[in-house]
Order: sequence, then C-alpha cells, then structure tokens
Amino acid sequence: MEEQQESSLDASQFCDLTYPRLRINDFTLDENIPIPPDYHIYTSPKFGLGSLDILPLELLQRILSQLDLRTLTDFRRVNHLALQFVASIPQYKAIITHASDALRGILSIETGRWITCETLYTMLCTRECEQCGDFGGYLYILTCKRVCFLCFTSEQPYLPLRYIHATRKFGLNRQILDTLPQMRSIPGIYSPNQKKCRHRLTLVDHDCARRAGITLYGSVTVMEKHVSDIAGQKLRQYRERLSQPPTGPSASTTRHHRTEGAFDGESGNPLRFMAIIRTPWLNRISQDVELGSYCIGCERSYDSYRNRPMHFRRKFTVDVFNEHLRQCGRIENGKHHPD
Ligand SMILES: [Zn+2]
Ligand SMILES: [Zn+2]
Repeated sequence: MEEQQESSLDASQFCDLTYPRLRINDFTLDENIPIPPDYHIYTSPKFGLGSLDILPLELLQRILSQLDLRTLTDFRRVNHLALQFVASIPQYKAIITHASDALRGILSIETGRWITCETLYTMLCTRECEQCGDFGGYLYILTCKRVCFLCFTSEQPYLPLRYIHATRKFGLNRQILDTLPQMRSIPGIYSPNQKKCRHRLTLVDHDCARRAGITLYGSVTVMEKHVSDIAGQKLRQYRERLSQPPTGPSASTTRHHRTEGAFDGESGNPLRFMAIIRTPWLNRISQDVELGSYCIGCERSYDSYRNRPMHFRRKFTVDVFNEHLRQCGRIENGKHHPD
C-alpha cells in the first residue's frame, strides 16, 4: 500500500482514499435558487434573424459567445431560430450540460450583464481556486471566479458588500456604487449555520468597490485616510450622543451602532454564500467532469481542523492527490502517517 501511494495513484486507489461528499449542507445559492425562468420556446421557426442571417454560422456563434449572459438570454427569446443559434454555440452547450445551475444562478441574482458566455465557459474549464490553487469546487458568480470553500468563506474578495458597508470601507457614494458589478440576493437560508435572509439585498463586489475607491481617491493610502477620518468623526459623534442623557426614540438607535469591520463572520456570514454555486470542473481535453473528492486521512484530523494542509474541506483530483500524500504522509487505517 505504501509503495502504491508513493507512486502515481490510479483512479480506484484514489477512490479508496477519498470520499465524494460531506455530511454537511452548506446552503449556498444552490439550495435557494428559484425554479428556472420560463424560457419562452417558440415552436414554429417562421422568422429569420434579419441582417444576422447573412453571417456564416461559425462567425455568428463566435460573436454570440462574446455577449454577456443577459443579452444572450434576451437574444434567444427573439424567436425559434435565435434559440437554435444560441443552443448551437459550443460554449453554451457545455454550460447547459454541466453548469446549468451557475447560469440559472447568474440570471436569478442578475449578474448576467457583467459575465459573458465565454467567461462562464472558461471558468467551467478552470480547475484551480484563483486564490489558493486548490481544487475549486465552486463559482463565485457575482464576477465569475473559480473558488474553493476555504477561500470563499474567509477571503475578502468573496464577501459581497451592502452599499452602506462599501461606503464605510471605501468611501464610495451611491452614484459610483450603482455603476459597479452587483447582485440582487435571493431570499432564503444561507451558510451551514442556516441563517434566514428574508429580503432581497443589493450587494456589490468587494474587489470592484475597492478598485473604484482607489481610483476615486488616487491611492490606497489616501482612501484609507479618508475612510478612517470619517469613521473617527462618526465615533466622536456617537460618544457625544452617549454622554447625553437618553431622550425619546433616538436612544434606541444608538444601540445599533456598528463599528467598521463588524460585518464579516466568515463561514457564518450568509452574504458569503449568496453568490456561490457548486460547479464541476470540465476537463477540456478529456471532456470529463469532476467535482473533486475529500481525503479520508483528513476527515477526522481535528487537530488541524482550522489549518491547511490537512483541513477536511480541501478537495482533490487524482493527479494532485499524490502531492497531498507527499506533504502529509501516506494513509493507513484512515489516518495520515508522516514518515
Ligand atoms: Zn482557495
Ligand atoms: Zn489528507
């Protein structure tokens, strides 16, 4: 067994040393996505596409694949011929076959105008989390990035921000925020802690908001100084109010004062799950899809529960699992044994 683990693993050895699913429901957007929109399917292809009819099919497919997903979805509703053209785009076919929930999610949270068909296809064919390089079993569909569980529950870029938080953090006004990639959340239950979210929230992408802030103020330093001056000013006003005797209904509002940065909560923060869809990786060469598997040697490694490389949330594919065994040791009786 030891020798087998040290050489290249085959698929059946990989299956013996891994398991495909956790017994935890993460309550991402997958669990909250509405029933598919009613794609109006025309039954009689009586009409052409006007001036687009003269374009060769291949060129038309290439043009359509560059369209954003909202425009493409609108286009396929034009008539039956448009529907057939869109259905014939190779990238769209792959999306419908392997990532239909991602497409439904994008249309549901209204991020389709910022994501092209080509981008979604490229992310479907990307295996690694953009942040850490591990197998990324999810797409963050506010801006369409491939991510892993550990990164989308802890890294800043995957925490969509409410306007008020984007304003506090990056000093942006509503006018600028309105121009940035943003989503409308779907009410439901989110995160393994099963937080109930009753309202549709408008949430803006963290990185885009940060970049807009830096552009507005000219540099990170100036932006941070502005934000901290405003926060200081608000804190002084808050303290002044506290030192006054409470009067009338305004007394209760001070209890809701929140300090800057108090809006994370990592894997317990429902906002981190509202733009996340489980999506397999499509291998462009073999055309196989993989969801990744969890290591049995890390399943009960509670000592390192919060840390890589032995975090139980990490996912692997057969060709990168050898590296994990080299790093953490061969597996015997369900445990890693470092040499
Ligand atoms: Zn990651
Ligand atoms: Zn392991």
